[in-house]
Amino acid sequence: MMIYDYVIIGSGIIGASIARELSRYKVDILVLEKENDAANGQTIANSAIIHSGHDPKENTLKARLCVEGNKMYDDLEKELSIPILRTGGFVVARGKDEEILLEQLYQRAIHNKVLDLSILNFDEGKRLEPHLTKDATKILSLPSTKVTYPWEVALACLENAIQNGAHFQKNSEVTGITKTKEGFLLQINFMNSILTRHVINAAGVFADQIAYMIEKDVKYQITPRKGEYLVLDRKAKSLYHHVLYALPTSQGKGVLVVPQVHGNVLIGPTSTLLDDKNLVSNTTLGIQQIQTDVKRLVDYVPYDLNIRTFAGIRATSSFDDFYIHESHEVKGFYHVAGIDSPGLTAAPAIAKYLVQEIITEKLVAKENFNPIRIKKKPFYKMSDIEKRDAIQENKAYGNIICKCEKITEAEIVDAIHSHVGNDTLKGIKKRARAGSGLCQGGYCEGLVLKIIARETNQPLNKINYYNRNTPILMKDSKVKS
Ligand SMILES: Cc1cc2nc3c(=O)[nH]c(=O)nc-3n(C[C@H](O)[C@H](O)[C@H](O)COP(=O)(O)OP(=O)(O)OC[C@H]3O[C@@H](n4cnc5c(N)ncnc54)[C@H](O)[C@@H]3O)c2cc1C
Repeated sequence: MMIYDYVIIGSGIIGASIARELSRYKVDILVLEKENDAANGQTIANSAIIHSGHDPKENTLKARLCVEGNKMYDDLEKELSIPILRTGGFVVARGKDEEILLEQLYQRAIHNKVLDLSILNFDEGKRLEPHLTKDATKILSLPSTKVTYPWEVALACLENAIQNGAHFQKNSEVTGITKTKEGFLLQINFMNSILTRHVINAAGVFADQIAYMIEKDVKYQITPRKGEYLVLDRKAKSLYHHVLYALPTSQGKGVLVVPQVHGNVLIGPTSTLLDDKNLVSNTTLGIQQIQTDVKRLVDYVPYDLNIRTFAGIRATSSFDDFYIHESHEVKGFYHVAGIDSPGLTAAPAIAKYLVQEIITEKLVAKENFNPIRIKKKPFYKMSDIEKRDAIQENKAYGNIICKCEKITEAEIVDAIHSHVGNDTLKGIKKRARAGSGLCQGGYCEGLVLKIIARETNQPLNKINYYNRNTPILMKDSKVKS
């Protein structure tokens, strides 16, 4: 049986970033994912902010790797063609008591080496952010705060790792781990086995469960903490310009206003501790909480532009920092655990830290590592001449399927068959953005369904919405092949 050098459990932003970092070296890498697509855990449902590093406690790994990661995104943007929106961030204080806390946060940000900070008064803040609450008195300005499309960053890292020789296996849940003489035997889906010399545990909220498969004394417990959001349509794009933060509390950074790279605006998240690690449903209470808390930041939110809600689950750890260590019980097993916020920001720095400072094995660099991942220009961003040429080359570019986002049949076919392709409706929505607009797929879902069925040679009623066994056509409908 083939033996891998490194198996990474989990294909979220952390597993994907580690796979890319390790693919710089002469090692055989396999990324295992239990779901039927990459990065469907915390990485798909978060605020998408590349934080400046103003908030993590001084002298923690969170502070160091957040500030480093923020800077590394400038290179990732060029190398991986990922979208970045440079908004800057405002932390809003209202009144004398909050101004004292704002000053403490400012000092913390300086200690964490966040650059270009300043404190603005109300008039300066209001000029730059017209809907800022009239109660604001002082604002901490964080120019290095930016926003990305987290899921695409993970996919881009994974694609680039695969280009550089790594392997990816979805629908592969690690259900057991045994230590062997040479390394580890991983049990997959309670049946198959995989051999590896080293294991990297990047399983997000499930990291403690993976750890218990191999250690008796696990140094952290993960408690799921839900964050709910509202999404505003692109028509709200010009209303808010910065990421708007209230002052952090013991519950985290609180409800934020976050302009998104595709023009939408996120309002959220809430913070609720849960027992169930899979409970990503929205609640009336959560939505009410968002509507109350956002008043700390802005005086106006156009709720009539709300096009959907969603929730994500944070991997809140009992260890008061990221837990990135080799197992104290079993050599060759690495924990990258408790990666809650700012994990998206820190991801590239976490991967580098693990590979360069924690992994003890001597790694030999590949001469031919290629850091570049090329992404085709979306049809809606092409010039008229580019559009004409694209249609001449492939007439499927002439067939607009998603009218809201102007996504063509050619782009949907590409999303199905790309390096890390997918055959679910949500998988196509994430890759090609079909169904992301105002109608949320009301008009195009049936058409996308038919294209997936045609391209993958499956009957319509076998096409899943999202996870395994979530077929969208339960009975006969007007969608016919
Ligand atoms: C509400 C919310 C808001 C956030 N906002 C921000 C933000 O604005 N900025 C920021 O920097 N960070 C933010 N974060 C944190 C950030 O999203 C996470 O730190 C990051 O996504 C963690 O990535 P991950 O790869 O560790 O976890 P995940 O994305 O959860 O990936 C873990 C993967 O492991 C897989 N897996 C689990 N068990 C197994 C198994 N047994 N076998 C195989 N695969 C398995 C899962 O299916 C999953 O795909 C936020 C998080 C949440 C939830």
